Amino acid sequence: MRSITKFELQYAHRFYKFQGEAQYLHGHTGVLTIEVEDAIEPGVNMVYPCNEIQKVAWNVLKNFDHALVLREDDPLLPAILDVYEKQGIRNGAPANKMKGEAFRTGLATAYPDCRLVVTKETMTVEGMIKIVYDLLKDKLNIAKITFTSGVNAAAQEYAPGKTIDRCPLCGVALIDGVCPKCGYRKH
Ligand SMILES: [Zn+2]
Ligand SMILES: [Zn+2]
Repeated sequence: MRSITKFELQYAHRFYKFQGEAQYLHGHTGVLTIEVEDAIEPGVNMVYPCNEIQKVAWNVLKNFDHALVLREDDPLLPAILDVYEKQGIRNGAPANKMKGEAFRTGLATAYPDCRLVVTKETMTVEGMIKIVYDLLKDKLNIAKITFTSGVNAAAQEYAPGKTIDRCPLCGVALIDGVCPKCGYRKH
């Protein structure tokens, strides 16, 4: 069975060197759907509580919300950092509170202080799915990711090979046999 969670992300990007309108900076509301697959944990009768999937995923996904996503070789990148620097907001601003946890993977680096994500590849809907899977594959048993943005949509299925031990009282993943939420211990 699957537990399915949706997220909305407001972001700006462009397809650098792409021959079309998308080479100009523009924005979207992207909708990301993550499907987590496992056996049902009988204690809670759930695969995984959706609000807990929200918490785990949003911690990193926040980096893409109200953010600018640029490819690492895009000349807009140094230009924008220069403006942020001169304006004094490159390293944060008092109103910039909804910050995600900084991350660096082979596909993307997040700079939450200036709401910027720098990607290795162009951030198409397909590119976003690769980035998200890479960020969350060790935390959640992901079976499918779907991302839609404007008229574009893509989806990828994965084969979750393992089963994660979850708390029979809260449904969250146990860490070394202990529930991080309620302290339950697996016998
Ligand atoms: Zn776009
Ligand atoms: Zn628990």
